[in-house]
This record gives sequence, structure tokens and C-alpha cells, in this order.
Amino acid sequence: MALTEITDRIAQACAEAGRAPDSVTLVAISKVQPLERVEAVLGQGHRVYGENKVQEAAGKWPDFKARYDGVKLHLVGPLQSNKTRQAMELFDVIHSVDRPKLANTIARIAQEIGHCPELFVQVNTGEEDQKAGVLPGDADAFVAECRDLDLPVRGLMCIPPVDETPSVHFALLAKIAERNGLAGLSMGMSADFEEAIAFGATHVRVGSAIFGERDYG
Ligand SMILES: *Cc1c(COP(=O)(O)O)cnc(C)c1O
Repeated sequence: MALTEITDRIAQACAEAGRAPDSVTLVAISKVQPLERVEAVLGQGHRVYGENKVQEAAGKWPDFKARYDGVKLHLVGPLQSNKTRQAMELFDVIHSVDRPKLANTIARIAQEIGHCPELFVQVNTGEEDQKAGVLPGDADAFVAECRDLDLPVRGLMCIPPVDETPSVHFALLAKIAERNGLAGLSMGMSADFEEAIAFGATHVRVGSAIFGERDYG
């Protein structure tokens, strides 16, 4: 199975960067994958998974969580305000906080339910129209706004443009995180997680390299 190959490569990338191997969390992105592939990785002991859609995650993870202890679930896709409560009940970490309205909704629901997932602010480092995330120039103000709401912001997340060198975006995200005193950096996917680790990633989001290609057919 590919899980051990990926964890080996993460350890190697950490060694090359002079970082401790446990300084990087592997979030195995299980979206669209057949349940038996996910179950195989659960069976190998991996416990940290990510999904990009609340509805899809709600269909499979309550059952897996009931059968496997210690599962941590991360939401890495865009969050609609009307799904916030469901997301906060299902996910341990949300990587896609990207607008004041959503931050306010999370803060209000956290008061009601008495807990809040750990949060990452998504930054649209490539300033792409079709992509979610706050613009780099708005990130400092938005992080401050989240902190004013007492939200547990742990770090920043980005998805670099497909046609650009990712390292530029990783470096930018790391810079914004540092000046805001944020330790978490969610960056790096199947094609570039080692590079992301060299730039300080604390959470790499790896899907197809672990589970195989996704079949959207
Ligand atoms: C699907 C997805 C990933 C994983 O992509 P792979 O290329 O399969 O590793 C990572 N991050 C986000 C936000 C995703 O939607």
C-alpha cells in the first residue's frame, strides 16, 4: 500500500529540512474514494483524514468513527454558511475559513454547542477568481477579526494555482503566517508535499498518492 511510502517520503523530507518527523501531520484526503480503499488505510492504523464536502463526509465518517477509535476529520473544501453547524459537529479541524460571515457563524455556533473545531484561514495566494480564500492583502485583517471573535485559529491554508510553481505560494503563505504568529501551515498535496515541507508545512493534504486516482465517472 502507498501509505507507508508516503509516510517514508514525509520523514525523508523532514530530515532534509532539519525538522522532526512528527512536525508534519499527514491528512489523508479520502474524497470520492471507494470505501474499501479508505477502510484499508484505516486498517493500517492511519487516523487523520480529510474531505472536501460536508455532505459526502456525513455519509461515510459517522460509521467509520464508530468503528475506529481516534479518527480525526479535517474539512479542506469550501464551507457554505448553512452547513456550518453540521460541519462543526462532524469535523475536528476546518481548513477553509475564508470570509467574515462564516467566521461570525462559527463563533455563534461555538457559543451554542460549547466547542469549536481548530481553524485554518484559507488564503487565495494566487488571487484566482474561481478560488476560495482571502486575498493575501486582506489576510492580516481577517486573522485579527477571527481572533477578536475568540476563534481558535491555528494556521493558514492555500491551494496554489495549478499552472504555477507552488514554492512561491508556499513561501508567501509561510510569510503571512509568521507575521501573524500562526504556527500551522496547511499546504502541499500529492504532487508537491515534499516541497511544502521544505517551506514549513505542518499539515500536508495527500489524496491520490495514498488511495490511487479518484474516479469521478
Ligand atoms: C482533493 C484535495 C487534496 C488532495 O489532492 P491530491 O492531488 O489527490 O493529493 C488536497 N487538498 C484539497 C483542498 C483537496 O480538495
